[in-house]
Amino acid sequence: MTVRVDQFNCRADNFGILIHDDTTGETALIDAPEEATILEAIRRTGWKPTTIFTTHHHTDHVEANLALKQKFNLKIVGPAAEAAKIPGIDEKVKEGDAIAFGGEDIRVIATPGHTLGHIVYHLPKSKLAFAGDTLFALGCGRVFETPLPVMYGSLTKMAALPADTAVYCGHEYTLSNAKFALSVDPDNPKLKARAQKVEKLRAQGRATLPTTIGEELETNPFLRWGDPSIRRHLDMENATNAEVFAEIRRRKDNF
Ligand code: ZN
Ligand code: FE
Repeated sequence: MTVRVDQFNCRADNFGILIHDDTTGETALIDAPEEATILEAIRRTGWKPTTIFTTHHHTDHVEANLALKQKFNLKIVGPAAEAAKIPGIDEKVKEGDAIAFGGEDIRVIATPGHTLGHIVYHLPKSKLAFAGDTLFALGCGRVFETPLPVMYGSLTKMAALPADTAVYCGHEYTLSNAKFALSVDPDNPKLKARAQKVEKLRAQGRATLPTTIGEELETNPFLRWGDPSIRRHLDMENATNAEVFAEIRRRKDNF
């Protein structure tokens, strides 16, 4: 049995995510961006959450924490490193922790960068990762709370997950990410094809997520530090991977 995922739109461009295990009947939320849309998803699925797994402290990921806690008496799990900023937190977790959910373990991966305590939830058995604002389809989170090389280190952890891991992210940013990705990796045929696919999906109002680690390794410039063609394009053939990442992130900040 694998964990089932229900992804829905929240706020302007956030995703709400419910996960559900059929065997045990357990349900959890990944982040709590907005009360009304989450309640609607709970009604639609019939899945009553007992837990919120929080990725990081930004308002668009925790705004509904207290309201949902009151309604469902649920437990809030979140990063120990920024626990003081997570409303209603009950259980503080860190790198390497395993949390039982359904018939499997959810593994905690520390991914500092976007925020100092940001964590990703990985379900090796179901081949799922909930990346919050660390990794996006064709992009990565803006680095607010650490030096750039720290975020590089976090992304190397994401890149090392099995290629067939389905990745769910905090935001639908893929179309604008694709435009930037083409500016640093213009000769990548897989990226060009993906950008076209993304454009079609968005024109139809459809989500471009989830993605997979394998697809990101082939097309996401923020995981392609070692690629000779990107390095040539940036005139950084002898730079370190961390330096290439930092240059790409700086360019994106000013794109
Ligand atoms: Zn954020
Ligand atoms: Fe966010």
